[in-house]
Amino acid sequence: MRRVIIAGNWKMNKNISESIDLANSIKRSLYDIEEVEIVICPPFTSLSDVNEITMETNIKLGAQDCFWEKEGAFTGEVSAGMLKSVGCEYCIIGHSERRQFFGETNETVNKKLKVLLKENIKPIVCVGEKLEERKSGRTFDVIKDHVVNSLAGISKEEMVRTVIAYEPVWAIGTGVNATKEQAEEAHKYIRTLLGQMHGDDVAKSVRIQYGGSVKPENIKELILQEDVDGALVGGASLKADSFVQLVKNCL
Ligand code: PEP
Repeated sequence: MRRVIIAGNWKMNKNISESIDLANSIKRSLYDIEEVEIVICPPFTSLSDVNEITMETNIKLGAQDCFWEKEGAFTGEVSAGMLKSVGCEYCIIGHSERRQFFGETNETVNKKLKVLLKENIKPIVCVGEKLEERKSGRTFDVIKDHVVNSLAGISKEEMVRTVIAYEPVWAIGTGVNATKEQAEEAHKYIRTLLGQMHGDDVAKSVRIQYGGSVKPENIKELILQEDVDGALVGGASLKADSFVQLVKNCL
């Protein structure tokens, strides 16, 4: 049985005091929820303060990116070990905004994936097609390229610890979510690919989140799909009310 996982990606929003307020509100409202795994991913600058709030609670802490080297002359970068030391249990990698604006590729995602797994941080690996790729019938090709190459060279046990987020780029921050049928079709395809790579038992165990304009109003119909195991949420994770309602609507 795959446990639903809802992760809030705060992106480049919330200074430290705003992060503390939001994390406290979420904790107050969701402290007794066990059925859904709840993850919040503040910016790097807020991780330490938010960790003080979420430590030893049901709310897990995640980062939005990491670098694959352990330490050294890599100005501006943050290692997986540093994320571990600040309490991160999850880390998003390969987000389309990183692919689009910061030169992230399947190869760099794959290096990050491996260091995170070594540090015992669960990676949330984002995959998904752009609008023009969908329109030209290349959705499955793009998903396959992202899944096969971003997730290359890991063991079955590591694959099970990894979460995949299917995020069609055209749905991110646009208010236009994939329909439940579109989401399920893509998720089923990803699970088929995982089966080819690691066998059916592994494929059945890996959680695949949907991301792209998820709101309290549409989360239920999405997670009712057989292969949709939760959501990666941007905009609706920035206000306590909407994030809390979204999580509660999964119950
Ligand atoms: C995201 O950035 O991962 C995302 C899904 O954003 P939004 O929910 O705002 O579409």
